[in-house]
Amino acid sequence: MRHPSAPDDGSDALFGLDALDGPASPRGHDTAGHGGSGPGGGPQDGPLFRDSAEARRLLPVRAVYAEPAAAASARGRQILARFPAAEVIEVASHWRIPGLHGNEGNVERWVRVKGETLVLGERKTLTTRPNGRSADWIAPGPSNGCALACAYCYVPRRKGYANPITVFTNIDGIIAHLARHIARQGRKPEPNQCDETAWVYDIGENGDCSVDALICDNTADLVRSFRQWPTAKASFATKFVNPDLLTLDPRGRTRIRFSLMPAADSRLLDLRTSPVADRIAAAADFLDAGYEVHFNLSPVVLRPGWQGAWTELLRQLDDVLPDRVKRQAAAEVIMLTHNRDLHEVNLGWHPRAEEVLWQPALQQGKRSENGASNVRYANHVKADAVHTLRGLVAAHAPWLRIRYAF
Ligand code: SF4
Repeated sequence: MRHPSAPDDGSDALFGLDALDGPASPRGHDTAGHGGSGPGGGPQDGPLFRDSAEARRLLPVRAVYAEPAAAASARGRQILARFPAAEVIEVASHWRIPGLHGNEGNVERWVRVKGETLVLGERKTLTTRPNGRSADWIAPGPSNGCALACAYCYVPRRKGYANPITVFTNIDGIIAHLARHIARQGRKPEPNQCDETAWVYDIGENGDCSVDALICDNTADLVRSFRQWPTAKASFATKFVNPDLLTLDPRGRTRIRFSLMPAADSRLLDLRTSPVADRIAAAADFLDAGYEVHFNLSPVVLRPGWQGAWTELLRQLDDVLPDRVKRQAAAEVIMLTHNRDLHEVNLGWHPRAEEVLWQPALQQGKRSENGASNVRYANHVKADAVHTLRGLVAAHAPWLRIRYAF
């Protein structure tokens, strides 16, 4: 179905906005704390995806580890009310909870932990860091950790692979910090590849905001805040299609970046995510709902036949996406980086992933600032691959501007 106001210029998208209209949810939208508002701040009509059986299967929360202040906050109470059967376990700090974080146990346990466990905490440090590549600034995010389970994910490197979502409940503090930071910047003095006119703030560095929106209104609050800030734009990458985000009315002030890789690689490496075809099919709906829609071609994993697989993906994009999506689209290209500890963890549960992720003949080591042993493709391998991928984009999706590739 297509939104009635959408130009009739291309293929059907995955979710028509009209599909969200319907009988009011018996449960309704959470109304505690910051929640309870729909587009324009009015009440939310219709059932929410996050109340669906599908969403509940992804996040069948049974245990919530909570700092007392986080549990007592408006956002904390909202979240606890969503999961009334969950056991609440008080913790002094959301950071490195013994028996929860770390790499002990088997993958079944880790993956279960990602869905069955939440952590509530308060983000103590509110700092915005300069970036300059994906975004101008990295905002203090509303979460850390993810219910999805990509084999190459860098987010758990500091906490161990079992890293369920920590929701930061002091979202008002995060938004107030951002308001001050944005006000201090004034207008963007000149265009750059991040954006022509707006300061771009990445709000999802350490998680997936689409998944966070299954839990609470942190993502919604950020999207609604950014629409009031004419000099700034939010941006986040996602591998999950959450139709609830279509109701937030971002008015062009949020850029959603669907991460894409060839479907066969995604099936091997992107556990628990939405299928790549669904992410592509959702692009038009998100554009019609008021988002800017970009793509992350990432991570690019070099394996025999990768060029053919990416060619197929780019042709699929060209075939499926309507012109209105293509006209505003841009892409980031990010080559795989990996990590020795994660490699060793993965060998224990998903050795087939490591057959493609761990390629010592192609990779070189890089000691990170925190002492971790990271690897990335050797300079000449990476330069050749980036050159090849740029050529494939030019040949098969010439409308797709590459913002940067590294
Ligand atoms: S979606 Fe992103 S944050 Fe979540 S597991 Fe995958 S790479 Fe990590």
